[in-house]
Amino acid sequence: MSGKLIIISAPSGCGKSTIIGDIMDRGDLDIQFSVSATNRKPRAGEVDGVHYHFLSDERFRELISEGAFVEYEQVYPGRYYGTLRSEIENRVAQGHNVILDIDVKGGVNVKKQFGDRAMSIFIEPPSIPELQHRLELRGSDNADAIKVRVDRAAYELTFKDCYDHVVTNDELPKAIAEVEKLISDYIADK
Ligand code: ADP
Ligand code: 5GP
Repeated sequence: MSGKLIIISAPSGCGKSTIIGDIMDRGDLDIQFSVSATNRKPRAGEVDGVHYHFLSDERFRELISEGAFVEYEQVYPGRYYGTLRSEIENRVAQGHNVILDIDVKGGVNVKKQFGDRAMSIFIEPPSIPELQHRLELRGSDNADAIKVRVDRAAYELTFKDCYDHVVTNDELPKAIAEVEKLISDYIADK
């Protein structure tokens, strides 16, 4: 029996990694994380092969021409991110469920390819100023990078109706519980 995909998208800084990390760390659900490839540099604390496969521009281009991606997007100017076939195809064929943290265009694209075998969840912030505040507190991006991310958030929010479910990340424990319940119900339904 093949596994399913869980697509999670949200504007950067909404708390997507925090929510996915919490659910994965507790390990109550049978889901594996799809490690994306990117040509951006690692942030402090990010580990190659765990958070992302950090690639050179050249290697990323090679993989595109080899057809190694299920999807890839230029999410920010010059910054590419993509889902590798090797991260999902074997696992799904072996019956494992796979969770993807990808941007809105990638999310819509994967949902289109996998149909009922994928469930998509959009995580929205309580407000754009709160999103900016979280990015500032996270401290991993400089002011220019934060502006790029906040400016893009309004665009990304226009995609939320394309998703199967929308969860607001206001109080973190509540958002985690909502996402976990959606995933648990979806994977239980064979
Ligand atoms: P994303 O993966 O969507 O870019 P992160 O998970 O890195 O976002 O979260 C951005 C920042 O906001 C982090 O510093 C995180 O600890 C914080 N955060 C996440 N959820 C909440 C919440 N509900 N309330 C306040 N801060 C939050
Ligand atoms: P960050 O640089 O904050 O880690 O991620 C920036 C954006 O890239 C986020 O919206 C994240 O979901 C998205 N992203 C990460 N991996 C992928 C991927 O494989 N494909 C696509 N399309 N977007 C991705």
